[in-house]
Amino acid sequence: MDREHRFEEERSRMVETQLLPRGITDESVLLAMKKVPRHRFVPADLMEFAYEDRPLPIGEGQTISQPYIVALMTQCLELKEDESVLEIGSGSGYQTAILAELARQVYTVERIEELRNRSSEILNTLGYVNVNLKAGDGSEGWPEFAPYDGIMVTAGSPEIPEVLAEQVNEGGRLVIPVGGYYSQELAVMHKIHGNLERKNVCGCVFVPLIGKYGWERGK
Ligand code: SAM
Repeated sequence: MDREHRFEEERSRMVETQLLPRGITDESVLLAMKKVPRHRFVPADLMEFAYEDRPLPIGEGQTISQPYIVALMTQCLELKEDESVLEIGSGSGYQTAILAELARQVYTVERIEELRNRSSEILNTLGYVNVNLKAGDGSEGWPEFAPYDGIMVTAGSPEIPEVLAEQVNEGGRLVIPVGGYYSQELAVMHKIHGNLERKNVCGCVFVPLIGKYGWERGK
């Protein structure tokens, strides 16, 4: 069996053993998780672990999130194919690719230029034409293309940045880990009549959102 075929089988197994039993039921999310080659987004020496049930280091002190967390956050965003989405924290670009499978247009901001460049190259190679990437402080959002139907923050924030709340469309969703520096609650907010209604989904552990409306700097 060739390598790509083996990875494809590992992806199917990942969906069956890690996602379905934990309540990922959205068909479009499951299809995207089955399709996107996660192994292309991790460092070459970690490829063989790409479909394991855990986050992995991607360099620069950052991580690619556990597949289940990627699927859960995506499911919480309830994206429709004609919608636009903003991701804060592109990291490896893997979550970006999942979003690009589901939405019309994806905007993604990464603080670390080196990671932005790497993810841009992989996303281009894989043929994602509906992704706009930028290096910068995503805690300020990306006002130029706002409002968004969905905003996903993939780093832990001390609070919900007001400036991000303002960039969510009426009826839109904001998914964000909020809380302490080392652990957070995954919050899902729906914008209804101009107000964000919050629901906590589960506890989680993310690297910090560092920027003007996040944490001041790395501890
Ligand atoms: N979604 C990513 C993936 O699939 O690989 C994982 C993201 S990683 C857990 C969090 C990312 O957020 C890191 O790459 C980090 O550099 C980035 N980050 C932290 N603070 C940021 C900020 N203010 N603006 C943009 N990116 C930020």
